[in-house]
Amino acid sequence: MMEAQGNNFMTLQFAARSENEAFARVTVAAFVSQLDPTMDELSDLKTVVSEAVTNSIIHGYNSNPEGIVTIKAAIDSDVVTIIIEDSGLGIEDLELAQQPLYTSKPELERSGMGFTIMENFMDEFEVVSQPGTGTTIRMKKRIESKKALYN
Ligand code: ATP
Ligand code: MG
Repeated sequence: MMEAQGNNFMTLQFAARSENEAFARVTVAAFVSQLDPTMDELSDLKTVVSEAVTNSIIHGYNSNPEGIVTIKAAIDSDVVTIIIEDSGLGIEDLELAQQPLYTSKPELERSGMGFTIMENFMDEFEVVSQPGTGTTIRMKKRIESKKALYN
């Protein structure tokens, strides 16, 4: 599996608590800010981090706060790589899980759009998962940067 390598990188680990979803989203956004992203790019990145972290907490760990979520991010020139991992339940049928509107938790009023959003907002998106081992989401996005827009 590819790691988050690049000229600059960071790793973040935190308890699988819903309070930490905002922390994770803002921290990744702060890290990526050095690329001078547009508001739209930053908003997309925050959304995908939020979706992936929420999935780890509610699906991977069934909201058990003893679970640990790891985020690795790397910047290599104008490309950001974000990896979000849990050691939770894992996904049995990856193809089904990635279908738009599929959710295994309709009772929680999930809409089944998390994976679809990640795929659409990022340039590259990959899920690696195994039942009993956990789930890793690996995504990449090229940041246009505001400078490119104004020049
Ligand atoms: P929404 O994200 O719209 O609130 P959702 O979380 O059910 O709904 P997706 O994020 O697209 O939808 O995920 C689809 C399904 O994939 C989930 O319902 C769940 O069964 C499975 N899944 C996703 N992430 C994980 C994970 N980290 N661990 C275990 N199962 C997962
Ligand atoms: Mg989801």
